[in-house]
Amino acid sequence: MEEESPPLPDPDGPDLDQYVRDTSTKTIYGFLYRRRENPPSMVEIRAWAANELGEAHSQIDRRVRDLRTFFDVPAERIDGEYRYALRGWNPKRTGLVGAPITRRVRAEVLAPGRCAQCGRTPLTHGIVLVVDHRVPQAWGGDNEIENLQPLCEDCNHGKKDFYSSHDAHAEEIKQAISHEEPHRRIGELLKAFRGAWVPGELIGIVASAVQYQEDWQKRLREIRTLGWVIRSEKRYNEGSRVRTYYRVESWEPWPTGSISAEIRRRERSNAARRSDDG
Ligand SMILES: [Zn+2]
Repeated sequence: MEEESPPLPDPDGPDLDQYVRDTSTKTIYGFLYRRRENPPSMVEIRAWAANELGEAHSQIDRRVRDLRTFFDVPAERIDGEYRYALRGWNPKRTGLVGAPITRRVRAEVLAPGRCAQCGRTPLTHGIVLVVDHRVPQAWGGDNEIENLQPLCEDCNHGKKDFYSSHDAHAEEIKQAISHEEPHRRIGELLKAFRGAWVPGELIGIVASAVQYQEDWQKRLREIRTLGWVIRSEKRYNEGSRVRTYYRVESWEPWPTGSISAEIRRRERSNAARRSDDG
């Protein structure tokens, strides 16, 4: 059975944030949205966006490409010229990323009836539960049920604020998440921040993006056995919570084979050396 295709997000509404976080790309989305009846040519898009955003053509082209991750923006030949028409959702993404969640999946995600973060329930605490993406869509998270959880609106807002504070690194985070092995995801994330402090919460999200990692701190320690120098620091002055931050000072190339196997091998030889010393 075919699911009905939901309407496109309003360019000025909050829904667009789920797919496009960057203000300039949003502006271009708004332009294409308003010009759906009379789609602009690339020359027009570039001229308009250069004027509006003061950006180079290459940057504007990239933003249109980014929009195509989520939206169907075919180049259509109209009056002898290619025009870029915002036609709907990217059909390849339906059921993956960007596609709206079906009613059935929504019901299944909300079925536990309590916020996955603070545990409050609508009945006892009068909160409203919403469907949250563990890995946000802007970072490559999909609509598979494993990536969805019930959150109360408060926790959801808190999480959104936290995520948007990392938007400057969205591309690097997306890259890090794309790796299969958890060690590599963590390591690549730390590298992407080029020696800057990374909150543990963010590492946890990226580590668990592919399969859930109950002990990402252990994965992080294991990376150290590969010769990486990773510092940590606790910060107490951020509201009521203590946050641990990590930063990489130096790193080694990844082993050519399995990372886990190489870590096991080094752990064994370290243990052997310790027992020789003792
Ligand atoms: Zn909550």
